Amino acid sequence: MEGDEVVDIAGSGLAEDMADLIAAWDLPTVETVTSLGERMPLAELSLLAPIIPRKNIIAVGRNYRDHAAEFTASGFDASEKQVIPEHPVIFTKSTTSVIGPDDPIVLANDPSGTTDYEGELAVVIGRPARNVSEADAIDCVFGWTIINDVTARDLQKRHVQWFVGKSPDTFCPMGPWIVTRDELPDIEQSWLRTHVNGELRQETPISALIFGVSNLIATLSEVMTLEPGDVIATGTGAGVGIGFDPPRYLRAGDLVEVSIDGIGTLRNPVM
Ligand code: ZN
Repeated sequence: MEGDEVVDIAGSGLAEDMADLIAAWDLPTVETVTSLGERMPLAELSLLAPIIPRKNIIAVGRNYRDHAAEFTASGFDASEKQVIPEHPVIFTKSTTSVIGPDDPIVLANDPSGTTDYEGELAVVIGRPARNVSEADAIDCVFGWTIINDVTARDLQKRHVQWFVGKSPDTFCPMGPWIVTRDELPDIEQSWLRTHVNGELRQETPISALIFGVSNLIATLSEVMTLEPGDVIATGTGAGVGIGFDPPRYLRAGDLVEVSIDGIGTLRNPVM
């Protein structure tokens, strides 16, 4: 996307989808690819998720101190009793849970009726990363987007491993787009905010992450190859539904909006 125009990269002949474009990042530049595609006005389009990752979305639990405290206090953490983790808590979400901006979060996919929101910064990997130091990790980042790590709380607890509670269909809204790192080089200056029906529920600086972007990339790449197009959801701040007593789970008709300065707002209705 450039300004208020969207470029159809499939028309460039160089990339079929976003994962292709990112994999080719070092060869023809993004500018070259976008110069070849057909341009369409954003206002006439409805956006899909900016990327469908080729493997599960990598996600991080309890990565802000105030959220780690509210999560432990809620009793919903079946896997760990320590409030502030010594090492990043890593889990994944199924790719089939990904939806785009304005797509509905479907409560019927959570049989436990305990659907909760988690606004998060997501990192899109741009270069293969293996054994990358914290100092070099930022060079592997293609850009930033927003994820709402929607969670079925009772399933998260019941199944101990978080995969089931994190992966119901429609439980990974993503977007509204990827902002490339050159356009937003210092993500730690940004704040994350989540509104439900216009009410501010979450507000935290990205700089408050316990394990920051470079640390997460270094930690993961020590054991596995991160590949272009991989997505890492970095964790949520305080103010999720289970942080309230009684919990404030999502209900049909709600509107959830997750915003990050410099990226935009990811907006999804609940049905
Ligand atoms: Zn999360």
